[in-house]
Amino acid sequence: MDLVEYQGKQYFARYGIPVSDGRVADTVEEAVAAAGEIGYPVVVKAQVQVGGRGKAGGVKLAADEIETRHYASEILGLAIGGHKVRRLWVESATDIAAEYYASFTLDRAAKKHVAIVSARGGIDIEQVAATDPQAIVSMHVDPLDGLDHDAARQLAGRAGLDPRAVEQVAAVLVDLYRCYVEGDADLVEINPLVLTAGGQVLALDAKVTLDDDAAFRHPEWSALEEIGDVDPRERLARERGLQYIGLDGSVGIIANGAGLAMSTLDVVNQVGGGAANFLDIGGGANADVMADALEVINTDPNVQVILVNIFGGIVRCDDVARGILRAIEEVKLSSPIVLRLDGTNSTEARKILDDRRPAGVIPELSMISAAKRAVEIAGERR
Ligand code: GDP
Ligand code: MN
Repeated sequence: MDLVEYQGKQYFARYGIPVSDGRVADTVEEAVAAAGEIGYPVVVKAQVQVGGRGKAGGVKLAADEIETRHYASEILGLAIGGHKVRRLWVESATDIAAEYYASFTLDRAAKKHVAIVSARGGIDIEQVAATDPQAIVSMHVDPLDGLDHDAARQLAGRAGLDPRAVEQVAAVLVDLYRCYVEGDADLVEINPLVLTAGGQVLALDAKVTLDDDAAFRHPEWSALEEIGDVDPRERLARERGLQYIGLDGSVGIIANGAGLAMSTLDVVNQVGGGAANFLDIGGGANADVMADALEVINTDPNVQVILVNIFGGIVRCDDVARGILRAIEEVKLSSPIVLRLDGTNSTEARKILDDRRPAGVIPELSMISAAKRAVEIAGERR
C-alpha cells in the first residue's frame, strides 16, 4: 500500500524524522483555516499517490490568505496522473538552501537493504541516474547488522553534501532505516530532503510503500487505507474480494487463474490493444463472482469491450456459460463481451450460448481470435 505524502510524514515523525508543521484540508475553507493556524507563508500540496505533483501544478507557495484560497481551489480541481485531488496538505513553508535525496529499499538480488543518497534531490532520481550517475551514492545494509550512525555518516559524506548537513542527514538515515524496518515498509523515500537556510535538515516530501504482507501486525494500517486515495475500481473490487488491478487500456479482462489473466493481457497487447485491468476470478467462476467481476469492469469509463477468457479445468464451462447469462441479467453492461470458453464441457457451454444467443455476447473459439475481436471492437467503439 502506498501512503500519500502527509501519511508518510506522519509515519516519519513517529521515528523522529523532522518534518514541517502541517494540516490536512479537504476544502478551500479548511485550507485557509489551516494556513491561519500554521502561519504564513505556507505550501499547499495535492495529496495523491503519484510523484511529479510539483510539475503538474499540485505544489504551490502561498504568502497570504488570498493566495491560499486561490491555490487551494485550483489544486482541488486538478487531476494528477489520473488521480483527482480530493485532499490537500497545508504546511509551513521552508526557506530551502539545498535539496537532497534519501531512500531505503530492498535489493532482492543482493538479499540486502540498500540506502541511496544524492546531493541532487528535488528532481526525478531516475533522471539524475541517467544524466549524472556519480551524483548518486548507495550502500548495502545487511539486515542482520542494521545501520549505525558511523556507517550513515560515511554514506552522507560520500554524497558531497554541504558539510553543515552531514551529521543531521546521517541521523535522518538512521531514523529512516528504523522507520523502514520496524515500520514494515518496502520503500521509504525523501525527495527532497532539504537543508534550510537556517541550517536545519528537514523531510519536505515523503514516499512510503508499506509491505501489505505485514498488515497482520499493524492493525493501525486499516485507518490509513480509508483515507488513502484508492482507485475507485480497485476499492469496489476489494469489497467484492476480487483480485483486480486497474490499468489504463480499453479492453476489460476477466480470466480464471493469474497465469491465464496475465497471458490474456499479453495477447491483447500483442494484437495491438491495451488492457483496462487485470482480473483473476480464480477457480470459483460461478455466476455471483462473474456478476461481481462484470460490475467492477462496468464502472470503468475507459472500457469499450470485455474479454472473458476462461479455461475450464476444474471449473466446468457450461457452469460458466450459465453464470454469464445470469450475470448479464443482473448487471446492465455498457460494453459487449467477447467470450472464449475452452476446456471441460466446452461443447455443452457452446450449445447453451447457441440456444440463448444473448445480445452483446460474442463467442470466439481461441484466445488469440478472441483478443483480436475484442481489440477490433474497442477500436470501432472509440
Ligand atoms: P513532488 O513534485 O510530487 O515530488 O512534490 P514535492 O513535495 O517534492 O515538492 C516539489 C517541489 O516543491 C520540491 O522539490 C521543492 O522544490 C518545492 N517545495 C516543496 N515544499 C517547499 C517549501 O516549503 N518551500 C519551498 N521554497 N519550496 C518547496
Ligand atoms: Mn518529491
